[in-house]
Amino acid sequence: EHPPVNGDFYSLGHTLTPEDRAIQLKVREFMEREIRPIANEYWNKAQFPMHIIPKFAELDICGLTYQGYGCAGRSALLEGFIAMEMARVDTSMSTFFGVHSGLAMGSIYLCGSEEQKQQWLPPMQRMEVMGAFGLTEPEVGSGVAGGLTTTCRREGDEWVLNGQKKWIGNATFSDITVIWARNVADNQVRGFIVRKDNPGFVAEKMEDKMALRTVQNALITLTDCRVPEADRLQNANSFKDTAKVLRMTRAGVAWQAVGCARGAYEAALKYTTQRQQFGRPIAGFQLVQDLLVTMLGDLTAMQTMVYRLSQLQDQGELADEHASLAKVFCTLRMRSIVDHARELFGGNGILLEYDIARFVADAEAIYSYEGTKEINSLIVGRAITGESAFV
Ligand code: FAD
Repeated sequence: EHPPVNGDFYSLGHTLTPEDRAIQLKVREFMEREIRPIANEYWNKAQFPMHIIPKFAELDICGLTYQGYGCAGRSALLEGFIAMEMARVDTSMSTFFGVHSGLAMGSIYLCGSEEQKQQWLPPMQRMEVMGAFGLTEPEVGSGVAGGLTTTCRREGDEWVLNGQKKWIGNATFSDITVIWARNVADNQVRGFIVRKDNPGFVAEKMEDKMALRTVQNALITLTDCRVPEADRLQNANSFKDTAKVLRMTRAGVAWQAVGCARGAYEAALKYTTQRQQFGRPIAGFQLVQDLLVTMLGDLTAMQTMVYRLSQLQDQGELADEHASLAKVFCTLRMRSIVDHARELFGGNGILLEYDIARFVADAEAIYSYEGTKEINSLIVGRAITGESAFV
């Protein structure tokens, strides 16, 4: 009998309050029971298991850190642990959840008026209204801060939106999508809540992705899409407001990277103790142990880093560069860990049924979204040197 498989080597989960720990374990149990058995099947079909949404809703964890509007007002630390637990089993699920609870609800929470928050957040918390977040465009990804080409123009009590958005997670089925557009009158970025049935809004599913295949990403076309002034996010006045949402969610992406890496490490540890070659478990070979320990060292460093990151967030001290450094470091280390895990599975590492192939592929998407390694590095570089490489 080998020791238990445990990727939380320094027992960080045990530092949570009993109440928070119970929520973490509830999510863990849900992921094992409901998601693990179907994760590869839906990934392979590139479909989203829509039947899972009401079950997700029962977990009662949407908008976990927000105060009021049916949200629990709990810590960013707990929210991080939850993102990790989801990604540990299926990174597509943590992405689906992060888009709705973080990006979409977060935009309304941080940039909406009191009335808008009361209208949208309670049903979104219950997952009766699902949300998406549309910022990236076909020709503008890293350069969204100053480069959005989707426009909005005011006409009386309405706004008219034109342009395209690419990669928009959940947008094929979500009830509302937050669309960010440049106001032709003053060149500033504004946010809009665009409803699914708006005739000027068309979301087409993006096909043939090699990562996060379960997540439904859409190419959105806005053609004279008319949105009432009441659905313009009243407190989104420039890209600085959009960036507040990204700062919050970027920390969550670092936690997702930890989850993806942890899932791969734990699977590899288990596999190496069971797989026999030369008459003994491969875990007994020195070179295999060296790889496992390298992975565990990286994983433990990542976990302690995001743990402190969330503490900063809970203390109201989170800066863009804090979140960006964790996003860069954790996604780089994640990539290395999933590669080592794949190596330890030998040929089986490329078979979907062993889960590792999915982790390796999904890691590539997390590596690039919510700001690439380069962009997040430049954000940190600007903070530590006082020199901006962007201008
Ligand atoms: P580009 O900006 O074209 O970058 C290409 C390369 O050039 C990168 O290596 C980049 O780092 C490098 N580069 C660019 N500028 C610089 C520079 N100044 N210095 C050095 N290197 C540079 N967006 C949304 O709005 N909503 C979503 O829900 C969403 N979900 C996504 C889901 C997935 C699976 C993926 C893959 C993406 C998603 N995105 C979403 C978009 C994502 O945020 C962008 O892909 C990301 O910001 C990078 O933009 P890009 O792909 O256009 O790459």
